[in-house]
Amino acid sequence: AFLSFEGIDGSGKSTQARLLAAALRATGRAVTLTREPGGSPGAEEIRRLVLEGDPDRWSPETELLLFTAARRDHLEKTIRPAVARGEVVITDRFADSTRMYQGLTRGNLAAAVDQLHTLMIGVEPDLTFLIDIPPEAGLARATARAGKEMRFEDMGLEVQRRVRDGFLALAAQAPARFRVIDGNRPEAEVAAEVQAVATGWLAG
Ligand code: C5P
Repeated sequence: AFLSFEGIDGSGKSTQARLLAAALRATGRAVTLTREPGGSPGAEEIRRLVLEGDPDRWSPETELLLFTAARRDHLEKTIRPAVARGEVVITDRFADSTRMYQGLTRGNLAAAVDQLHTLMIGVEPDLTFLIDIPPEAGLARATARAGKEMRFEDMGLEVQRRVRDGFLALAAQAPARFRVIDGNRPEAEVAAEVQAVATGWLAG
């Protein structure tokens, strides 16, 4: 099975991905916990190229190609082999993040994002948890967190609002794949709901 977590910066999706992986492992399941950008040695190198250093180094188009290359490597080297071994793969971000960031906020590249996805990736997660929180709460959490890189261009409330609305619109278009989880609650409460949904889904 292939599960993803999505959400705005500070939504708690990385924590929730980690907690779900631990909960499933505790029940004896083999789990690969991974993330994007990154998740394979080659893709982690691309992550550093994109997220570290001069943010204006790449045009939005070049950045989209780099993210797509990273995702392709992640898929080939990490996701597909783990799914083939029968593991549950949990990824912190996948193509929905590119639909938002590279497609919506870095430029008007939505059509290119969709075409590259069809050509080079071609798969969606079986189930996607959208950890939804108000942009104000996400920004407060993300900026309070020390030593965590958040892209400078994403720090405004307006961008966070667009990304949140975009994620909710994607979820509404693909209700069979998405589960929207209210992330504006205590961590353990969110984790319990995620776990219940995932366990039910995996059993079905
Ligand atoms: O998920 P994480 O917090 O590690 O993401 C780090 C930064 O990379 C965030 O600021 C996010 O907005 C950005 N990002 C991006 N395009 C993606 C995925 C993440 O610009 N496809």
